[in-house]
Amino acid sequence: MNPIYDQLKRPLRDLRISVTDRCNFRCSYCMPAEIFGPDFAFLPSDKILSFEEIERLVKIFVSFGVKKIRITGGEPLMRRDLPVLVRMIRAIEGVEDIAMTTNGSLLKKYAKPLKEAGLDRVSISLDSLEDERFLAMNGNRGKVKTVLAGIEAAASAGLYVKINMVVQKGKNIEDIIPMAHYFKEKQHILRFIEYMDVGNSNGWRLDDVFSKKDIIDEVQKLAPVKPVAPNYEGEVASRFRYEHGDGEVGVISSVTDSFCGNCSRARISAEGKLYTCLFATEGTDLRALLRSDLDDEAVAAKIADVWAHRTDRYSDERTAQTASRRQKTKIEMSHIGG
Ligand code: SAM
Ligand code: SF4
Ligand code: SF4
Repeated sequence: MNPIYDQLKRPLRDLRISVTDRCNFRCSYCMPAEIFGPDFAFLPSDKILSFEEIERLVKIFVSFGVKKIRITGGEPLMRRDLPVLVRMIRAIEGVEDIAMTTNGSLLKKYAKPLKEAGLDRVSISLDSLEDERFLAMNGNRGKVKTVLAGIEAAASAGLYVKINMVVQKGKNIEDIIPMAHYFKEKQHILRFIEYMDVGNSNGWRLDDVFSKKDIIDEVQKLAPVKPVAPNYEGEVASRFRYEHGDGEVGVISSVTDSFCGNCSRARISAEGKLYTCLFATEGTDLRALLRSDLDDEAVAAKIADVWAHRTDRYSDERTAQTASRRQKTKIEMSHIGG
């Protein structure tokens, strides 16, 4: 193993791989239907990394000490034969943990095959328990009961389940307490995500962000919680345990309480670009390297060089002004998957 560090001495530890830029939802904060309409040009299949190319990259990243792999999208379950990829990654020596982020709509069908292929964990996104608000947020594409069935299927298949809820003012503040209550009962950890200025399409405004503090104030109305230490260095969610009984919630507060100081994540987009920050404007074309005659050592050297020059700390430096100035140039969330 050959650990690598960036300019701020942060190691490369986690890898997130987007397996498709397509999605069957049109969440307004990610792929608004007005922009991602019927004529939107998604990537053709020959521009997307093959499973073999992804496998080759994972082996290279593992050689740097990466142990955790997260599969994301777009909607990762829109990629055909995903369990085959999971099985290929599971077989790589050094991979300790494989997770997936999904909107849950297709999980009822795929939870069992994914678990059998070696998937460990799944984070399922759900923004409301009420169809009216959920449909308004996901572009009228998915009903609550479908996602809840996906969550049940994942838990019964033996996958470790967490729930992600993006919180946006004017959209789903009233869902914080019901969601906390429901998933406390179900014994799944619910993680609230502050609405972020990712991509260029969602018309983000700082005024629409409901802060970590506001979110926890809401949860306290349900039951008292207290902060607890992270499970491991670099954990993105701040954890809060219920004071009485079991259970915890998390908050991913990229906007009001950023965590760039220990960010050890690299991201690969569906078309094979390497991004060293969720808010990056430029990526490094790994697909071109993989499809050239370079050997693994040469590809690894290029990745190590990119990481060694990394200085990203976008959220630490964010102001309402920088967020709007960078509009139009950032990578879309649906390309790198959060
Ligand atoms: N389609 C899958 C899903 O929705 O879980 C995986 C990809 S999605 C881009 C990954 C995560 O990013 C989801 O939990 C989603 O809610 C979150 N997300 C997308 N846009 C966001 C935004 N503007 N602010 C905060 N979180 C966002
Ligand atoms: Fe699709 Fe996930 Fe983006 Fe929603 S957040 S549009 S489900 S990729
Ligand atoms: Fe990491 Fe960039 Fe997010 Fe900071 S803003 S935590 S560097 S991805």
